[in-house]
Amino acid sequence: MLIPGMAGSGSGTANAQATPAFAGNAGHYRFRVGDISATVLSDGVIGGPPRVYASDAPEAELQEVLRQAFLPADHMTLNLNTLLIETGGRRILIEAGAGKTMGPNGGQIFENLAAVGHAPADIDAIVISHTHPDHVGNLRTADGGKAFPRATVFVPKADWDFFVRTDPDLSYMPVPEEFRLRFAANIKNSLAPFMNDVELYEAGAEIVPGLTTIVASGHTPGMATFLVHSGNDQLLLTADLAYHPVVNVDRPWLPGPDRDKETALASRRRIFDRAAADRLPVLGFHFPFPGLGRMLKPTAVTPGFPPTGSFDD
Ligand SMILES: [Zn+2]
Repeated sequence: MLIPGMAGSGSGTANAQATPAFAGNAGHYRFRVGDISATVLSDGVIGGPPRVYASDAPEAELQEVLRQAFLPADHMTLNLNTLLIETGGRRILIEAGAGKTMGPNGGQIFENLAAVGHAPADIDAIVISHTHPDHVGNLRTADGGKAFPRATVFVPKADWDFFVRTDPDLSYMPVPEEFRLRFAANIKNSLAPFMNDVELYEAGAEIVPGLTTIVASGHTPGMATFLVHSGNDQLLLTADLAYHPVVNVDRPWLPGPDRDKETALASRRRIFDRAAADRLPVLGFHFPFPGLGRMLKPTAVTPGFPPTGSFDD
């Protein structure tokens, strides 16, 4: 079992909200996928009421699950685990992180990139799973320019159509109206510098050799997940199929921000089942830093309380 809140730049305590810098803790984690160099770069943390991320959980069960995981009852911390891969002479960032679009504790990607010896101009491409602000928030500088000046930005076409080309109805999100308006505006603002040169992709496409996108719609119309692969090694990135292993993997509870909850659930089951069956290393964008682990198939199913799987580090 994963014990969240013990590692790295996103401790799961309530104090995490009030302590922006986590001074002294590394916000990067290096490993390899075959010949591909991979580095998790934390952009910090966001979070909110646990109920938002476990919309259909019975209250007493939710509180018990949080208590058993040593997590606070009133706040769930979500990490922002972007992944830098270096392959074929290119540096590709998977997810851009939140910046300050969803609270004061995002925006750390730049210092963590510097800590591994890179400047924003060293990034050749940025691949976004979906256009929620916590995935695109760092793309724009304060004065409206491109924060990663050389990078080609890849965005799922269905998300671009829904969030950027129209004014989406976000009334399905279990948050106050004021939050929804800011959320929608932050998406458009963050992507504004790329109106003329964004690369729109269909989930399923290969972005570069070694990085394939996987259809995972439901959370948003176009959300994709990713498979990084080299030789016999693979890494599955699960994007926002799950927010936190304790409520969306070990328990089957549905994230409130999923736009189409049935389609999202089907995507979650299909991809988590593959991860378990193929014993794939997994990186969860919002999981406790650095977000790496493996999915387990449940060994027993409790009637009326079936976990979809289990996350183990
Ligand atoms: Zn997210």
